[in-house]
Amino acid sequence: MGRSRAQSSVGAALDIVADQWTLLIIRDLFAGVSTWKGLSDSLAISPATLKRRLDLLIAAGCVTRNQEAGKKQVRYELTAQGFELFPFLMAAREWQLRWDARPEARVTNWHHSCGEVLRCAPFCRSCGEAVRSDEVVLDDKALPGNDAVIPAQRYRYVSAKPEQGNSNHAAQRPKVVDVLGESRTTAVMAALLRGIHRFDAIQQFTGLPPATVSSRLRRIQLLGLGHTRLYQENPDRALYQPSAAGRDLLSLSLQLMQWGNKWLANSIQLRTQAIHRSCGQPLESVMRCGHCHGEVTYSSVSNGS
Ligand SMILES: [Zn+2]
Ligand SMILES: [Zn+2]
Repeated sequence: MGRSRAQSSVGAALDIVADQWTLLIIRDLFAGVSTWKGLSDSLAISPATLKRRLDLLIAAGCVTRNQEAGKKQVRYELTAQGFELFPFLMAAREWQLRWDARPEARVTNWHHSCGEVLRCAPFCRSCGEAVRSDEVVLDDKALPGNDAVIPAQRYRYVSAKPEQGNSNHAAQRPKVVDVLGESRTTAVMAALLRGIHRFDAIQQFTGLPPATVSSRLRRIQLLGLGHTRLYQENPDRALYQPSAAGRDLLSLSLQLMQWGNKWLANSIQLRTQAIHRSCGQPLESVMRCGHCHGEVTYSSVSNGS
């Protein structure tokens, strides 16, 4: 094992949600499924896996197990902490709608209170502008007590050059769980999203062994989330950059960061803060309806056709 890295806001949040089953369970709980049978029917999941993931969500404080007096039926319900994953889930759903063109791709049918099918995008709470990935600066600050070990890191997001054409369109059909469901891929992706483009720097940022970094970079490329650019030959040196679909993962990342900062403050050593360069203010990213611009909250949406 390599050295353990300081846990950041996003990293701590990913330890909880970066598992495809966990994400699907949370999605179903939000959609109103609350019983063991409901979850196992909907997900076609093995009982052992369902139990492990529910136990994890309960231990993490996102779900409670409730049983009414005199009744057999147990209900799994989201806690306040679990409910606040809603904007993250909606950002993940939006990403899926934009980038996953597979006909079998399944997204929950949410409608916004304005009556339209929900499509949403991130906006800055302070200035009200839409959040563009190249306008975001991510800043990792060591929390008091840990600053002796970890220097504060600051990365400016560097936008990749626009892709030429859409030649590898066939590759751009990743499922959101393909990315978020595998923590090492997510860690490498997080580096790319911070404008860390060189192999050794990615390795340093993630703390992963070189072989793991290479295999995850290949995976990111296969998923259409990034590409490689040779900037020197003999020996070959490459820059790794996020694709448009990869850059779009920033809205999910911002939601997880905000959630992690609020709810996982006790388990993190690095607090990640985003700055919105356009207005210079700390960025609180709010998901807003693409139709009426109203904020997307659990109470402002309904589920069904
Ligand atoms: Zn702003
Ligand atoms: Zn709306």
